[in-house]
Amino acid sequence: MKILVINAGSSSLKYQLMDPAKNEVFAKGVCERIGIDGLFTYKPTGREPIKGLKTDMPTHSEAMQTVLQYLTDPEIGVIADMKEIDAVGHRVVHGGEAFTASVLITEDVLAEIEACSPLAPLHNPANIIGIRTCQQMMPGVPMVAVFDTAFHQTMPPAAYTYALPYSYYTEDKVRRYGFHGTSHKYVAGRAAAMLGKPIESLKLISCHLGNGSSVTAVDGGKSVDTSMGFTPLAGVPMGTRSGDLDAGVLEYIMTRHNLDIHQMLKVLNHESGVFGISGLSSDFRDLEDAAEKGDPRAILAIGCFNYAVKKLIGAYAAAMGGLDAVIFTAGIGENGPAQRRDITAGLEFMGLKLDPERNQQRGKELVISTDDSPVKILLIPTDEELMIATDTAALLK
Ligand code: AMP
Repeated sequence: MKILVINAGSSSLKYQLMDPAKNEVFAKGVCERIGIDGLFTYKPTGREPIKGLKTDMPTHSEAMQTVLQYLTDPEIGVIADMKEIDAVGHRVVHGGEAFTASVLITEDVLAEIEACSPLAPLHNPANIIGIRTCQQMMPGVPMVAVFDTAFHQTMPPAAYTYALPYSYYTEDKVRRYGFHGTSHKYVAGRAAAMLGKPIESLKLISCHLGNGSSVTAVDGGKSVDTSMGFTPLAGVPMGTRSGDLDAGVLEYIMTRHNLDIHQMLKVLNHESGVFGISGLSSDFRDLEDAAEKGDPRAILAIGCFNYAVKKLIGAYAAAMGGLDAVIFTAGIGENGPAQRRDITAGLEFMGLKLDPERNQQRGKELVISTDDSPVKILLIPTDEELMIATDTAALLK
């Protein structure tokens, strides 16, 4: 089975053609700077990639056309005909409370995704354009929407309700939704497979630590709490995002620096996080280099991040009343032995015993706790595309 996975952003479109049953990727790539100066990247597996090719892509339509043209190219394509594509799986950021799982896309579903757009004004409209474009280019091919928020719809009201006047929830849909759901669901499933236990029997904490970071409590295969909230700005400090903040700080800074709410949100989204604290970089590799040379603010930034993740591990173990495994995934989780060491340090009392040697590994599935660790610590590379393709294939059946 060949599934095309599409992740459409406002000026980009990532794609991957794969067989989820065999976890075989035929080709992947990205269209960037759509509507600007168009850059196309195409990586057919096992063959020379094409990177950053200037290509005329005024809209997502031309971008999608380019993708299909390369996939079916007689010389460098990976399929003979577009008809070989069985279905398309679309990443959709916000499914609100309407979607608790992936769905086959119909006009009603599209209308519902559109209704969620006010909750994710930068992302959902771009996702809809991606879907509409594919529908036009590939009529009759089944399309599936896979939502970042759906996995978290199992959170109980006590976990998702903000302590605001209740009408903001009932009238305005203000609540914690959570994001990175596709990744948390994927690694939780892999954790169960690695531990050789049914997921229904496991209490897991999934730490998706990348440029954006979130931590999720997964009890019996269901998300029961997560650190991101109404928007992906909440939770732990991130590359450039502040994470949780006392709302009183906003009024104080806005008054003192004469900022409007848009300027304030720009600071919180793009100038804060470990970048804001360090004044150096949002990338942990740069911060680690600077910290090694003794830069106090790089040391502080890394320390704030690790501390926030550590606190959530404690909180979520309490929320679930137990813990079987902690999972590290995404850029930092998969590649940052120092972060994994510092986050788990001092949690031996909870049963987490990291194996220092195993912890040196990067980017592959591995138990990195000691053999006698009561709670396992797992390194699991995330694969959102595989999860999207798997959900898509399952819905076709
Ligand atoms: P992601 O958003 O999952 O792609 O993660 C991106 C982040 O992962 C980067 O900003 C880095 O901070 C971090 N990262 C990637 N590779 C490494 C590495 N080798 N060591 C430490 N951090 C890394």
